[in-house]
Amino acid sequence: MTADVVVIGGGIAGASTAYHLSRLGHDVALVERGEIASGASGVNAGAIDSIGWGHAPDLQAHLTAGSLEIFKTIQLDLGYDVEFRQSGALQAIHTEEQLAFTHERVARLCAAGHCVELLTIRDARAIEPALSPALLGAMYSPLRSQANPVKATRAFATAAEASGARVLTGHEVTGLSQRGGGTYVIDTSRGQLTARALVLAAGAWCGPIGRMLGLHIPIVPVRGQMWAAGPVPPAVFQTISSAESAMQWTRSPGNDRDTPPQLTHRGDTRLTRHLYGRQTREGEIIFGGDRQLVGYDTTPEGAGIEVNHAHAADVLPLLRSLPIRRTWAGLMPFSLDGRPIIGRIPGRENCYVVTGLASSGFGRGPMAGKLLADFIHGGHRPDVLAAADPARCVTLSEGH
Ligand SMILES: Cc1cc2nc3c(=O)[nH]c(=O)nc-3n(C[C@H](O)[C@H](O)[C@H](O)COP(=O)(O)OP(=O)(O)OC[C@H]3O[C@@H](n4cnc5c(N)ncnc54)[C@H](O)[C@@H]3O)c2cc1C
Repeated sequence: MTADVVVIGGGIAGASTAYHLSRLGHDVALVERGEIASGASGVNAGAIDSIGWGHAPDLQAHLTAGSLEIFKTIQLDLGYDVEFRQSGALQAIHTEEQLAFTHERVARLCAAGHCVELLTIRDARAIEPALSPALLGAMYSPLRSQANPVKATRAFATAAEASGARVLTGHEVTGLSQRGGGTYVIDTSRGQLTARALVLAAGAWCGPIGRMLGLHIPIVPVRGQMWAAGPVPPAVFQTISSAESAMQWTRSPGNDRDTPPQLTHRGDTRLTRHLYGRQTREGEIIFGGDRQLVGYDTTPEGAGIEVNHAHAADVLPLLRSLPIRRTWAGLMPFSLDGRPIIGRIPGRENCYVVTGLASSGFGRGPMAGKLLADFIHGGHRPDVLAAADPARCVTLSEGH
């Protein structure tokens, strides 16, 4: 089978790239070893981060505010019910130190044209009654949204198919090569494909996929884990987080040569507690937060789940009486400098990558895919992708 562009990885990044490329008229095949959304894109919390474009939109503003617009298109214009809701978000403030930090942060973001507000706990409880009255306040982000991650990722793949793309699930890529520096040959568990151009969108597995082509793509798998309580009648309306990790990571991101920034642990030692969650349309209340380097292990770790549950119950006391019904984990694709890796791979013709979307790739993946599709289609790198250029970190392995 031959395609103009083969996209490897049926997560949000690959599905969005395939959708936008096929809309631009390219003959695309999206190749996924499992089902669409069988990686991180299917197990995440479904929180969509945006504080608006701001006065001088950078890469982060493009990825977040741009993706928000694309989610709206999918739900409202194309008619896919992905449970998208611009719910708003509240970040809980537990201490005087967090209050001072958030005060300064909100002032800085507002001055840059972003859409956030510092609420007293009384005002926060007026829009989210289940919040604990013991909190000192909350940062309110009215643009932040939520959606069902599996439905949303599959909607992009279905929309790609409707524009002519072929979606090949159950096709594990087992080998990659290039004929005479030109056509790519993609070996899969169910046969061979050839393509003029290749997009590597394999999330946390970009390392092993890159190695098939003699590339070193420095992506580290980071385990994120979650739990669910309920279902219960509607009780939580926004997406909910806590200021503890935001303050810690602003002061000390914690990265070094081999460790990405903004993890909750160094080895087994906890550095901070991170928290995010929401109530789904089915009524489950889902929360998570831990980010740990444990290789490709996706077994949830009980002690971390308990710490997270206690943290969530400090924010939403109703959770104290709701037992955890299930837990799960997935692998987030972190780059070592914390920045996304989106663009053309140096030293390989017509080979592109879209990854490094880390802990917020569900909310940033749609625009990441659109920007890459625009680059491939037009042949010119969108200026904003300079900050995500693979040339800063992707290298050819020895002997290639
Ligand atoms: C527990 C958890 C909670 C999270 N919560 C949020 C959140 O609330 N909001 C948010 O914005 N982000 C969140 N994230 C992060 C987000 O899920 C990821 O950043 C995003 O899904 C990454 O998308 P991706 O397409 O790059 O990777 P993935 O979704 O992992 O997709 C990669 C795909 O490549 C496929 N693949 C790998 N190897 C091969 C091969 N050899 N052949 C064929 N296919 C292959 C995999 O099967 C997989 O489907 C969370 C992540 C986790 C784990």
